[in-house]
Amino acid sequence: MIAPMCLFCRILEGEVPAQVVAQTEASLAFRDIDGKAPTHVLVIPRRHVQNLAELAEYAAELADVVGLAARVAQDEGLDLGYRLVANTGSQAGQTVHHAHLHLLGGREMTWPPG
Ligand code: AMP
Ligand code: ZN
Repeated sequence: MIAPMCLFCRILEGEVPAQVVAQTEASLAFRDIDGKAPTHVLVIPRRHVQNLAELAEYAAELADVVGLAARVAQDEGLDLGYRLVANTGSQAGQTVHHAHLHLLGGREMTWPPG
């Protein structure tokens, strides 16, 4: 039996719809389905790896994800600041095991995060 593709791989394949806001050859940015801020965009590598630490083995692709997040932040007018979050592992609340950055902005952020 062929293993089912992960949710974000299915979004990359166009099998699951998403509100795409920007993309590059290596990365895709789309709105989180359950937004926690006026801007809540997920930025993912096209490569399937479990988390951002694993993506660090592919330095150019890691840089591309961060660069795309910064570009989306600029496009969304987040001049006052934004937060990039990479939940890693179950205790941190990671639910989708395909590397992703949450780009959050458009409101005051609390610190520390819960
Ligand atoms: P994490 O909990 O850090 O793994 O983040 C996974 C994120 O994916 C959550 O914020 C979810 O709201 C989001 N999510 C789940 N399904 C979808 C979907 N179909 N389209 C967009 N975002 C999604
Ligand atoms: Zn995947």
